[in-house]
Amino acid sequence: MANVIAIDGPSGAGKSSVSRIVGERLGYLHVDSGALYRIMTWQCLENRVDTSDPRAVADFAATVEIECCPENGAIAYYVKGEAPGNRIRTPEINAHASPVATVKEVRDRITAILRGMTAYGNLVVEGRDITTAVFPDSPARFYLTASAEARAARRQKEEVEKGIANQSAETVKASLLARDKIDSTRKYAPLRKADGAMEIDSSDLTLEQVVETVLAALPAEWKSGILSA
Ligand code: C5P
Repeated sequence: MANVIAIDGPSGAGKSSVSRIVGERLGYLHVDSGALYRIMTWQCLENRVDTSDPRAVADFAATVEIECCPENGAIAYYVKGEAPGNRIRTPEINAHASPVATVKEVRDRITAILRGMTAYGNLVVEGRDITTAVFPDSPARFYLTASAEARAARRQKEEVEKGIANQSAETVKASLLARDKIDSTRKYAPLRKADGAMEIDSSDLTLEQVVETVLAALPAEWKSGILSA
């Protein structure tokens, strides 16, 4: 059975950077589960499916085929042979992803895809329900948080650097908080800290400090192959 490190938390808490580096140090594949919800959302919008209609979203989501392949230390995704790239990182996708992620059929489908990835080897999986619903039995579960201001500042910088958008920190913060609210109050697999997960507040920590905290908390037998920074 593969080892799975599960990392949940709200948007902008630093899950992606931490998961990527932890994966590199251990030789575990990095899995961005949010990208799967973003791909479903992107496909809904491309095909003019009303994302506020759960029935329409559920029916459509059953038809979307997402190919998953291990590539350069991560699981890469393709739809009809095409990588989605930054098309799934726009403010429009941000606004529609959380409503799409409330739909049970979408969640069931993505949960099955994620569980199937253990066939590729050891994983670091980040998301909103990885510690609570997808891999609740993992002995390495983390809940990463940060203040809303710190999270918005990170996301805004990332959007500008990647040329995705140029929104004010206030606008980014409002969008994050709106998503947090939907994600943490939805009926199925809401975002919450799992019992037994280790909470790490990254507001005043460097990326390296968070990575070290995660690595130090892993079961001893998983740590033998850690590569240094
Ligand atoms: O992590 P990211 O911001 O890319 O996720 C986009 C959206 O996908 C989240 O706001 C959330 O609604 C949904 N999501 C989820 N469960 C996950 C990962 C993401 O519901 N495991």
